[in-house]
Amino acid sequence: PPLSPCTALMLSSDSVPTLSPYSSVPSSCPGPVAGQPPGPKTWPRKHCSGRRQSPVALWADRSVPASHFKVLEMSGYENPTLPIKVTNDGHSANVNLRPGAWLSGGGLSGNYTAQSFHLHWGKGLNFPGAEHLLEGTRASMELHVVHTKDGLPMNKAVKLKDGVVVLAFMTNVSDPSPSEASWNDFTSFLGLVPEKDNEQPVFGNFSLKGLLGAVKTLHYYFYQGSLTTPLCQEVVSWIVFREPILLSSLPRVRNFTSSLFYTTASEGRRMVNNFRPAQPLGRRKVLRL
Ligand SMILES: [Zn+2]
Repeated sequence: PPLSPCTALMLSSDSVPTLSPYSSVPSSCPGPVAGQPPGPKTWPRKHCSGRRQSPVALWADRSVPASHFKVLEMSGYENPTLPIKVTNDGHSANVNLRPGAWLSGGGLSGNYTAQSFHLHWGKGLNFPGAEHLLEGTRASMELHVVHTKDGLPMNKAVKLKDGVVVLAFMTNVSDPSPSEASWNDFTSFLGLVPEKDNEQPVFGNFSLKGLLGAVKTLHYYFYQGSLTTPLCQEVVSWIVFREPILLSSLPRVRNFTSSLFYTTASEGRRMVNNFRPAQPLGRRKVLRL
């Protein structure tokens, strides 16, 4: 008999790599497709369909200069003892940080403590998976460093209008890469957390600054948006840097696309295309430095 659209989609999704699993499940399908995360259509309407959602497409000529901003200050990011744990949280490989790196200045109203970082990626070498689009282009991967106001725990920060700041960095290819050793160290943990809820302690192996390499943080977009996974709370000041992190080769992306599963290895859904599609900017103003 012919396959139902849901089953056919599940079987064929490996051959439609440009679609994110977040968008490839028809709303008519009964619940999440086995092994796939529930897509945006099943996300809580109350939150994930608001008017201040992320990611968005960012354009220099549709943004406003933020010449009045103070210098963005970043401290402690070079400390290799901050990363304490790598976890497969079912959306990405999430690295928890102990307090010690913080952010202030720019257009921010206070001090924000780095709590964790993770990446979004596509599927293989030809299918990029960054979340924000810069000048209409999707980079291969996007690194998010999540901060909370005054070091509040995440569950408290998401209740404040200005509770969360995310630094977003695109990745691009360059030979040689100034941050090769740090990425080797970080990606060596991915194979240790293949399944959801797997976690692995980290002991001084790599620092955030090491992963950023020589990237300059002078130029960025700044806008008000949301978390890009449920509950999509609209509490995030986004700082999206215009200069990418340089990685030595595209096979680096393979460390991400081939190491992790959304759920279990036996369900076999590889964690690929873990990015949310761009959301409408609406009336929001984007500032540019
Ligand atoms: Zn993210």
